[in-house]
Amino acid sequence: MPELPEVETIRLALDQRLIGRRVTRAQLHRRDMLVLPGDPPGGFSRSKSGAKPKRVRRADLLEGARIVELRRWGKQLAIVSDGGAVCVHLGMSGQLRLSTDTNPEPLGHVHAQWRFDDGARLVFRDPRRFGGLWAFPSLQALRDARWSGLGPDGLSLTAAQLRVALAGSRRPVKGALLDQTRVAGVGNIYADEALFAAGVGPSRAAGSLTKPEHTRLAREIRRILTRAIKAKGSSLRDHTTPEGAPGAFQLAHKVYGRGGHPCKVCGGPLLCEQIAQRTTVSCPACQR
Ligand SMILES: [Zn+2]
Repeated sequence: MPELPEVETIRLALDQRLIGRRVTRAQLHRRDMLVLPGDPPGGFSRSKSGAKPKRVRRADLLEGARIVELRRWGKQLAIVSDGGAVCVHLGMSGQLRLSTDTNPEPLGHVHAQWRFDDGARLVFRDPRRFGGLWAFPSLQALRDARWSGLGPDGLSLTAAQLRVALAGSRRPVKGALLDQTRVAGVGNIYADEALFAAGVGPSRAAGSLTKPEHTRLAREIRRILTRAIKAKGSSLRDHTTPEGAPGAFQLAHKVYGRGGHPCKVCGGPLLCEQIAQRTTVSCPACQR
């Protein structure tokens, strides 16, 4: 599942290619992958209301508008134009891929695509369809609807923000870190890696962390996310850059996916267990 570094990798690439470009054509191939203002919460794929979807105008998907900005909060990306904004959530297997109109990449599971005035072509594909698109008349409307409930972004997380996010919680710190309303952008990979680097056991009650631990853990979350962005993310199954290249941070994972293998610091066996319904790997000797 794409986490903050994977989405930021995509944002940086699209930022270089799309700012200032005008959308000459926008196409939606599956109505249930788009949520318009007024649609049932979560969209029509999960709705049982029986309501009939309202017609999508091409302008809803930014046709005719000029791209002014790519924004990210946590794992969500916003394509912002002078005529509205589209929020992209990649879910489990979503991708945004860039190619050219004259040399389109043959890809399956394409749910929406945009063509630009310089011949660039952007597609949104998502084989498992846990992701989606949300269209808004402005970035402000997008922020109010989609981002106001999210916690502080992991890339700039301060110790004070982390302390507030974890305060009073008796749930495992691993589960609290995965909760996007507390900290936005951290998923299973980077939670395990950051907890290991900070020496904090994943099953510790979130509210039991000390002030030095807040400082250490916030620092390690920022450091690991930054390093992962430099490596263009972790490619385990689906993540690629918009140009189709894999990331390399999976090679630097110290605990994620290494249950039963020796700890890279102390040599003892890494423990693999379920915490907050997620496979969690940690070192019982190095993490307390
Ligand atoms: Zn160890």
